[in-house]
Amino acid sequence: MDLRSKPLVFDETTARVRTPCGNVFVILGRDDDGPLDMRLVFGKAGGCVATWAEVVSRLVSLMLRAGFTKQEIGYEFRGLACQRGDNERGGEQASCLHQIAEVLDRDGQNPDS
Ligand SMILES: [Zn+2]
Repeated sequence: MDLRSKPLVFDETTARVRTPCGNVFVILGRDDDGPLDMRLVFGKAGGCVATWAEVVSRLVSLMLRAGFTKQEIGYEFRGLACQRGDNERGGEQASCLHQIAEVLDRDGQNPDS
């Protein structure tokens, strides 16, 4: 499998998402062909949650570099619940995981998002 090579320096966009689990920062690193790197930073949570966020970030980055689309990746997050999220109510009430899919879907639609 060919992976897109990761440049030494790349542009990033940061989306801050308010979730029932606190603020989540979804940071997408990109080259001219779009995102190829993702980092998730949970505003407050540390320890195990931070480690899970790290590994999810690494796997999503790998998928982006392998050519999966943002929509294909986001599909795997969409609708996932966590103990605090309420996907029925949506918006800022939706689970942190579901909102990651929203950020991936919105990416590129608004340069400021
Ligand atoms: Zn959550």
